[in-house]
This record gives sequence, C-alpha cells and structure tokens, in this order.
Amino acid sequence: MRVSDQYTMQDPTTQYPKPDDSFRQSQDGPGLEQDMHPRPDAGETSYRGSERLVGRKAVVTGADSGIGRATAIAFAREGADVVLSYLPEEEADAQEVVELIEKAGRKAVPLPGDVTDEGYCTRLIDTAVSELGGIDILANIAGKQQFVEDIADLTTDQFDTTYKTNVYSMFWLCKAALAHMPPGSTIINTASVEAYQPQPILLDYASTKWAINGFSKALAQQVAPRGIRVNVVAPGPVWTPLQVAGGQPTEALDQFGAAQSPIGRPGQPAEMAPAYVFLASPESSYISGDTITASGGMPTP
Ligand code: NAD
Ligand code: MG
Repeated sequence: MRVSDQYTMQDPTTQYPKPDDSFRQSQDGPGLEQDMHPRPDAGETSYRGSERLVGRKAVVTGADSGIGRATAIAFAREGADVVLSYLPEEEADAQEVVELIEKAGRKAVPLPGDVTDEGYCTRLIDTAVSELGGIDILANIAGKQQFVEDIADLTTDQFDTTYKTNVYSMFWLCKAALAHMPPGSTIINTASVEAYQPQPILLDYASTKWAINGFSKALAQQVAPRGIRVNVVAPGPVWTPLQVAGGQPTEALDQFGAAQSPIGRPGQPAEMAPAYVFLASPESSYISGDTITASGGMPTP
C-alpha cells in the first residue's frame, strides 16, 4: 500500500491538527523545528516527486526549517540540486534537510550565514555557480517576524533588521542570481497574507511583505524579455519556528490559524512546497509577476 502523499484526496479541514493548548510554546529566535510540538510537517515522509525539476540548480534561503525546508525537500525530490541558506545556530535542523536531499539522490550544499549581509548573499549565488554549475531557481524564503504591540516599542534596530532580512536580502540575491541565470530560470519570493490583512502588531513585518509583492511585480516585467520569470508565494498562518520564536504572542498560539482561515487550522509547510515547485517548473511558463496565496481560504484583494 502506498503511504499518503500530496496527491491523496482527503478533507483539508481534518488533514492536520487544529491548534490547542499544546501549540502554546516559545523559543528564542530563530528557533528550531526540532524543538517544536507538534512537529511541523515539511513533507519529510509524504512529499512524492515526479521529475518536475530534473537537473535544475536551486538556491533556497531559510532552507533549514518551515516553508524553506519543505521547499528544499520538494525541489530535491523533483530532481534539483540545492544550495541551502540558514543561520549558523540552525545547523541541527539544516543537517536533517541535507540528509533528506542526499537520500533523494541530489546534491545538497549547506552554506550557513546571515542574509542581512550583502557579501553573504553574493557568496550564496557564487557557491551555486561553483558547486552546482550554475543557478536557475532562486527561492527567497528566509524571513524575520517579531510582533510588537505598540509602535512606541518598535525599535529602529528591529525595523531595520526586518527590512534587511525580508526585503534587502531579496534584492541582493535577485541581483546576484540574475547575473548568471539562463532563459527558463525562475525566481520565487515569499510574501504573506499579512501584506493584505496586516495585523496591528506586525507593522514592520507586514509592510515588508507588501514591498515584496511590489518588487516582484516590477522585476518580473524587467526580466521577462530575458525569459526569466518572477513570482511570489503568499502563505497564510503556517506552523513553523517563526511563529513560536516571537512571531506571535505565545498565549495566542492555541488559536493559531483557527479563527483566521476558513479551513479552520494552521497550514503546514508541506502544503506550501507545491506552490514553489509549480512556480519553479516550466508548467507555469506563462505565469510571471503573480502571487499564489496559500492561506486556507483567507480572501485576498
Ligand atoms: P522559519 O523560521 O522556519 O523560516 C525562516 C527562516 O529564515 C529561518 O529558518 C532562518 O534560516 C531564516 N532567516 C531568518 N533571519 C535570517 C538571517 N538574518 N540570515 C539568514 N537566514 C535567516 O519560518 P517560516 O514560517 O517557514 O518562514 C519562511 C517564510 O515564510 C518567511 O519569509 C515568512 O515571512 C514567510 N511566511 C510565513 C508564514 C507563517 O505563518 N509561518 C506566513 C506567511 C509568510
Ligand atoms: Mg529555521
């Protein structure tokens, strides 16, 4: 009997747990997926590849945990080699992903570092060129989200780091990657439903996500004549370290994703990865400058 995978028909409202008291937990940033309970599903045992990205060369940021982890696993199972970006303190999570990629028969090149540093962003792309022989997929998934109730307490330092992590790194990585990308290459950036329905406690974060949509729509037009597509995935509430490491107030986590999304539960990283795969692959050849929202049915403009 085949184990269930992303193609198994099932009821999305009961496919994954609804939040309860066990979701209330907190870690210092950036947090480890290994220490979460329940553990998020990044497709480790369920994602089934079908040769949609054979021979492709990908850079994935935030590849150790959450949505980036699910995307890196999915890319590898679809046939791509992957350079993985993450912070040094996330090595334990990252090593699990490296193992899974190698198990899929693909090359994994881990390169920890800080995406708020332009030099590191350039190094990531250079590493893809030297270790994978080029780059034709860039998935910008790293992100920083720290809630602050009152603008009076939102420091310039936090505002700056959130923008550097979410927006500047995307700019630096796109710029460096585009110097090497052949026609057919794809860039996928990561926004959020926070771009459309910003929570009052996420001034800095929500506004970066709106910026990411705008940047992507402009860049998509600029590079379309070169045969390169740029798109965005906008997740809704997804169960990842980001949320338990200061992304949301701990006491609100027992309702995380339940009230907001019509499907009535948080999403899992494994449910985001197929959108990245679709936008990376030539299946989406006539789609550029667009955003796929995966929010459990929260309406978008
Ligand atoms: P996550 O914590 O698993 O992933 C975020 C990753 O960002 C970390 O693993 C870390 O490797 C990376 N990162 C953060 N700061 C960095 C830095 N300075 N240098 C290098 N790497 C850094 O959480 P996630 O929810 O999977 O987040 C992935 C993306 O999804 C983010 O862009 C986030 O904004 C977006 N998103 C998440 C949700 C959600 O509910 N979880 C909703 C909408 C959008
Ligand atoms: Mg992480």
